[in-house]
Amino acid sequence: MLRVRNLHVYYGRIHALRAASLHVVDNEVVALLGGNGSGKTTLLAAISGVVRAASGEVVLRGESIVRARPDQIVRRGIAHVPEGRHIFKPLTVEDNLMLGAYHRYARSSRAAIRAEAEEVFRLFPVLAERRGQAAGTLSGGEQQMLAIGRALLSRPKLLLLDEPSMGLAPKVIREIFDHIARLRAERGVTILLVEQNARAALSIADRGYVLETGRVVLEGPAEDLLANREVQRAYLGRERSRTAAAERDTDPSV
Ligand code: ATP
Repeated sequence: MLRVRNLHVYYGRIHALRAASLHVVDNEVVALLGGNGSGKTTLLAAISGVVRAASGEVVLRGESIVRARPDQIVRRGIAHVPEGRHIFKPLTVEDNLMLGAYHRYARSSRAAIRAEAEEVFRLFPVLAERRGQAAGTLSGGEQQMLAIGRALLSRPKLLLLDEPSMGLAPKVIREIFDHIARLRAERGVTILLVEQNARAALSIADRGYVLETGRVVLEGPAEDLLANREVQRAYLGRERSRTAAAERDTDPSV
C-alpha cells in the first residue's frame, strides 16, 4: 500500500526526519511509536503532503506522491486525522462529516454523500444522536470519532491517525481503539497510527516502528515490540504508571 524510503524533512535548521523508512501492507494496522519530538507527526504530515520532504520517496500503490499537493493525496486515497482533531467547532456534526467529502462535491450527488454519512452514523451511533449539535459541544472522545468519521467520508484506502488517544480517559481510549480495530476488520481500511499510548496501539497493531530523533530505530511485529525490553522501559512502564494515575484520579472510590 505505502512505502516511505529515506525521507528527510527540515524545519529551517531542525532536521526532523533523518532517512526515515517504513512500509504499510494492505489491510494492516501499523503503529508508529516514539517519544516527544521524535518526528512521528512530521512523518504523517510528510506522507499527506502537509509538509514537504527535502529528499526521499513516498510511494502509494506504486505511484510516487512525494511532490503531490495534500488535496491530490486525499484524492489518491489517503486521509489524515491530525493531532488535536481539528474539527469545525461551530458547525454541526453532520456538516463536519459532509465536509470530509468536499473534494467529491462536483462529481457525487449530495444524496450519495448523505448516504455515506449515514454509514458513518451507523459506525458511531453516538454521533447520530448528536447530528444537529455544534461539534464543539461534543466530548473529547466524540470529537475524535467525528474526526475519524469525517476522514472516512473521503473514502480512504489508508487512514493516518495522529494520537487518537490524546487527552482521553482510559475507558474512552479503549472505546476509540475498539473502533479503530473494527474499521480495519469491517471496512478494510489500512491504518498507520501514531501513538504515545504504546500499549493500546500495539494491542491492535500488526507491526510497529519506533522513531528516535527522526530515525527508525526499531521495527517488528507488535507482539515482539510489546515483549522488547527497550520498548517496555522507554514506552510501556511510564505509560502504565500514567494510566494508573489517571484511573486513580477519576475513580471516586480511591
Ligand atoms: P509529539 O509526540 O510531542 O507530538 P512528534 O514525535 O510528533 O512529537 P514532531 O512534532 O514531528 O514530533 O517534531 C519533530 C521535531 O521537529 C521536533 O524537534 C519539533 O520541535 C520539530 N518541529 C515540529 N514542527 C515544527 C515546526 N512547525 N517548526 C519548527 N520545528 C518543528
